[in-house]
Amino acid sequence: VLTVSRLRKSFGTHQVLQSIDLAVDQGQVLALIGPSGSGKTTVLRCLNGLEIPDAGTVAFGGGPAVDFGPPVPRRQLTALRDRSAMVFQHYNLFPHMSVLQNVIEGPVQVQKRPRAEAVREAEELLARVGLADKRDHYPHQLSGGQQQRVGIVRALALRPALLLFDEPTSALDPELVGEVLTVIKELAEEGWTMLMVTHELAFAREVASEVVFMDGGVVVERGHPDVVLRDPREERTRRFVARLL
Ligand code: ATP
Repeated sequence: VLTVSRLRKSFGTHQVLQSIDLAVDQGQVLALIGPSGSGKTTVLRCLNGLEIPDAGTVAFGGGPAVDFGPPVPRRQLTALRDRSAMVFQHYNLFPHMSVLQNVIEGPVQVQKRPRAEAVREAEELLARVGLADKRDHYPHQLSGGQQQRVGIVRALALRPALLLFDEPTSALDPELVGEVLTVIKELAEEGWTMLMVTHELAFAREVASEVVFMDGGVVVERGHPDVVLRDPREERTRRFVARLL
């Protein structure tokens, strides 16, 4: 589904991504782990067009690879944005819109799909995550766990080839984490392709098909969750997982 090669990104003089290679296959769940500041969020933002990489290529499915600049490939960037959808750490729902409006905004305004069809699909998706009765509520009327489930539905409604999750449960109260992880696990079982930044190593072990450990803007180690999270080859990975498990 996705191939990333030699991706680089700096903010000023700080080179946050040195040269990242990643591949996510159809139906795969890839968990991206690593210390704070290692560049995990920046990888996701580069894939979704929220940041523009300095160099490297990104290719989705059979589509052409987008070769990053300079100059910035503006037109290809739009095509790239359409392929993935992001679930944010802090939900990022539009506060002045109802749940339903939040979900149909992208399909109707950006993808130009018929409103009635988008509403029908949004209602189905909301029902699937147990929020059918919340469609006319506003974000501030919902718990964090409910808001994040809306965030997930909003991403699904875009019918992306790849779902990007940026620490989807780290802003939640502990008792609300489970309901969000359950939804993510169901999506994995349904075969959605996902790239997930997470600190929930137990969850990564349960759900991920592959784990990638990043540190200092490079991929240090990647492999099967049982290897990377239990018996890593690299000392840096070993120290990181020992602290969190
Ligand atoms: P965390 O687990 O804390 O979210 P992370 O691995 O996701 O960390 P990033 O958020 O990708 O790390 O950030 C990597 C580095 O890039 C950090 O040092 C951060 O301060 C810096 N950075 C990120 N975005 C910007 C920006 N827009 N401008 C300047 N520096 C930035």
